[in-house]
Amino acid sequence: MRTNSKNMPNQPDEQATVNPSEQETIQEQAINQPYDRNDLYLYTLRKMAESNMETNLTNLTRLLNRRAFFYKSAEIIKENPDKHFAIMIMDISNFKMLNEFCSHETGDEILVYIADIFRDYWKRSCTVVSHFRADIFAMLTPFAQKEDLVEIAMDIHSRIDAFKLPYKVLASIGICIATSPEMSTSNMCDYASIAKQTIKGKFYAKYAFFDDKMYQRMLSEKQIENDIVNALASGQLQAYIQPKVDMRSRRILGGEALVRWLHPTEGIISPDRFIPVLEKNGLIIEVDFVIWTQVFSWLHERMVSGKNVVPISINISRMHAHDTTFMQRLISLADEFHVPPSLVILELTESSFLNDTDGMYESMLELKQYGFTLSMDDFGTGYSTMTMLKNLPVNEVKIDRGFIDDIENENACIILENVIHMLKALDKTIIIEGVEHPAQEEFLLKHNCFYAQGFMYYKPMPVSNFEALLDAAAT
Ligand code: C2E
Ligand code: MG
Ligand code: MG
Repeated sequence: MRTNSKNMPNQPDEQATVNPSEQETIQEQAINQPYDRNDLYLYTLRKMAESNMETNLTNLTRLLNRRAFFYKSAEIIKENPDKHFAIMIMDISNFKMLNEFCSHETGDEILVYIADIFRDYWKRSCTVVSHFRADIFAMLTPFAQKEDLVEIAMDIHSRIDAFKLPYKVLASIGICIATSPEMSTSNMCDYASIAKQTIKGKFYAKYAFFDDKMYQRMLSEKQIENDIVNALASGQLQAYIQPKVDMRSRRILGGEALVRWLHPTEGIISPDRFIPVLEKNGLIIEVDFVIWTQVFSWLHERMVSGKNVVPISINISRMHAHDTTFMQRLISLADEFHVPPSLVILELTESSFLNDTDGMYESMLELKQYGFTLSMDDFGTGYSTMTMLKNLPVNEVKIDRGFIDDIENENACIILENVIHMLKALDKTIIIEGVEHPAQEEFLLKHNCFYAQGFMYYKPMPVSNFEALLDAAAT
């Protein structure tokens, strides 16, 4: 069997084919051979795939498909324990656009052109290449030093750049070095893809190696995905509230509900660590709903017990733009808990409206007509802020803390002054986020900007602490 395996050439056109009746015999032979299970598995997979080489090749580029690449790579690594291997995954970040801009025929032409670059590398010993799907290509290659891999990556880039097109082809390459011969090729591909993802769309970054930091981040994301469902069910996700104040009197005007994960072993986890993961898998929609429900329920409790209430802001993830039920959910919460919608401020960032194919704009307009207050969060950090302001029906704008971070800088002051002036002229309520120092407060008061949220006044706190503040203010 070893002889067979050694005889099997690297490239498909040189490979012997096996007819279906022979295939069963081969599998039987494989089972009878004194190899470990891994060998047997590889051998069987290889022979089954070799028996019909056509099914191993992609139609367009005639490179190995993903499945064939996995078994062929695993086999090469296994048969060359003295060599170091890496897998490179490449894709084109603007391929969809390129197809639309230059036609699908040109898109296909580029794929064939790229396939030929990879095919050249296939000629090297112990190397195998693949066209996974669409614009994704892969290569397993041996190397002596990391620089060899950089050289390959740069060669692929410069040859792609030589393709004459009115549209720039932006390729990104992720590289994973096998840390042991036992590392599975499919894991290596996943890791190379993660590395690639970190530079996708950045024209100046040509390649990225998968490293320990990415590995730790990946583990942490997996852990979050794993734990979040239980966290939701067992009440570990709780709303904290950060008061908003009138800087002149320090009076509490309202509060913003901010999610906290009260993790049984890790303590309090802040949203920056888990929201990006939940936005990827869509679970943020459920998390938001849990926080909104806590806010409506709390407002209801205070109202029925005759206590003073203030408006509370809730954050609406941009992912709700893809959730057709979100508007109805908010209206139902207001009805169910008998809370006047004017007591709830909906905070959205500009990016929620960027690809408004799902009618976010109409939903917000309806929610405003229903009585909710609309607030644009993190103003100044998005893309089309000015156009947005012209068109969006927001009552309030929260200026991102990036604007006041740098208050000693003269240019920063000029920008902030003019932003305040413009928002006032547009009749928007202004809230300044992230006030931390008296100098910032002084500047803002001088420019008739009175409302703020910041650590100088209060940090986000458990609802019970916020209640105590409100109760104290009422007496
Ligand atoms: P955001 O909505 O802009 O909330 C304000 C953030 O600024 C909060 O961070 C708050 O703690 C922080 N902050 C307030 N004042 C200061 C200050 O003076 N200095 C500094 N350094 N920071 C200040 P947090 O709670 O970590 O939340 C981060 C972001 O996570 C929020 O930014 C919001 O975008 C998102 N988020 C929080 N809770 C939720 C939620 O329930 N749902 C959704 N979809 N997003 C949420
Ligand atoms: Mg907010
Ligand atoms: Mg904000």
